[in-house]
Amino acid sequence: MKIGVLALQGAVTEHIRSVERAGAEGLAIKQVAQLDELDGLILPGGESTTIGKLMRKYGFMEAIRDFAARGKPVFGTCAGLIVMAERITGQEEAHLELMDMTVSRNAFGRQRESFETDLPVKGIEETVRAVFIRAPLIESVGEKVEVLSTYKGEIVTARQGHLLACSYHPELTDDYRLHAYFVDMAQTYKQSAQNQ
Ligand code: GLN
Repeated sequence: MKIGVLALQGAVTEHIRSVERAGAEGLAIKQVAQLDELDGLILPGGESTTIGKLMRKYGFMEAIRDFAARGKPVFGTCAGLIVMAERITGQEEAHLELMDMTVSRNAFGRQRESFETDLPVKGIEETVRAVFIRAPLIESVGEKVEVLSTYKGEIVTARQGHLLACSYHPELTDDYRLHAYFVDMAQTYKQSAQNQ
């Protein structure tokens, strides 16, 4: 299983470490051509405006849309979640527009800019350790999106078929179960693609 981490900006090496702990091979993706060999792609946290700009510059917009349209799993964390959303509150332009949701950037305010919590996530036994850093939240989701967790009533983890997104940084702790969950999604994709 090969899982790529988009390596234009943001927390890349930590994601690769968590992917490898989850039993898959992790690759830093800097060029569009590298996407072909992947079974899944992670869009890391960082700064969504910067990541969006670099994605446009290096041709990743179309390439990742194609990747997802082929049914290959994509997992966005924090800024990566923003990049995946169809709508961003207060911004005219969104980025990949992959997931039917509206997100709000830096949604936790100054007081709660950065914090950690134990989060129950549907499909994962026991709570997941989640690090929030100037995190976005999901304000609303469309019918096809399943909410996997909320924090104080706000949606922070969601899934739409082969697309997964969370507001926090799951790669900054030793808890790699969300990565294992994503590797499972990629495994399921690979098996169904092989059976076709
Ligand atoms: N605040 C950043 C943004 O709006 C996201 C922060 C993060 O990825 N930790 O893009």
